[in-house]
Amino acid sequence: MPRFLLKLSGEALAGSLEAGIDPAVLDWFVQQLGAARSSGAEFAVVLGGGNLFRGAQLAAVGMDRVTGDRMGMLATCMNALAFADALNRAGIPARPYSSVPMPGLLAGYEAGAVRAALAAGEVAALAGGTGNPYFTTDTAACLRGLELGADLVLKATKVDGVHAADPVRHPQAARFDELTFDEVLARNLKIMDAAAMGLCRDHGLPVVVFNGRTPDALTRIARGDKVGTRIASVAANGGAR
Ligand code: UDP
Repeated sequence: MPRFLLKLSGEALAGSLEAGIDPAVLDWFVQQLGAARSSGAEFAVVLGGGNLFRGAQLAAVGMDRVTGDRMGMLATCMNALAFADALNRAGIPARPYSSVPMPGLLAGYEAGAVRAALAAGEVAALAGGTGNPYFTTDTAACLRGLELGADLVLKATKVDGVHAADPVRHPQAARFDELTFDEVLARNLKIMDAAAMGLCRDHGLPVVVFNGRTPDALTRIARGDKVGTRIASVAANGGAR
């Protein structure tokens, strides 16, 4: 069965709210995920925390960066608890895991246990990022994707793929169907941080960037359709671009 690592940002869960989680948006993502896994596809989901706290923003107003990042990692735990809870309420077996052990609150992440849970049909909601400050949940998504043997990392965004310029400010900006990791890094396209891109490049794990709010996008990706922008080590035609 294909296995996917979906990265869902905190911002995505906030919907149109300034902060927190929009319950309707949460349920919408659950419904989309439920439909996508009906063909047997397996999903692990790395949750961001930007709807609550980001270490860099807290550091910008004076907080110690490591403390801020710890708050950011804790924020992802709340999102993972909410996401797994919403999946369970929809009848989808799911469990939240944290990179940082939190006995009594969240199961500790262990790759072997999570692989087994995915193979048994559970959705894993992964929290705590990498467990280290100065990293992002995008890097955590790529790391967990590799550890869990995912076929693809799926990054849900607000736009329908990677564009040559910010499509919100430059609506005419061309969208890429495909990119290599080297192109993303050389053009400094702000899709994921360089650590995340480098990890996927060095270990050959492709990433698909797509609009998370497009109905059935996840289902189409799960059945192998081309959706959004695919980033891989080499172009799909095997040649350099
Ligand atoms: N974070 C961290 N280490 C990690 C992942 C996340 O310290 O491995 C912290 C960091 O402060 C980050 C916050 O958690 O800003 C929330 O994660 P992120 O910004 O990636 O969330 P998103 O923007 O995807 O919602």
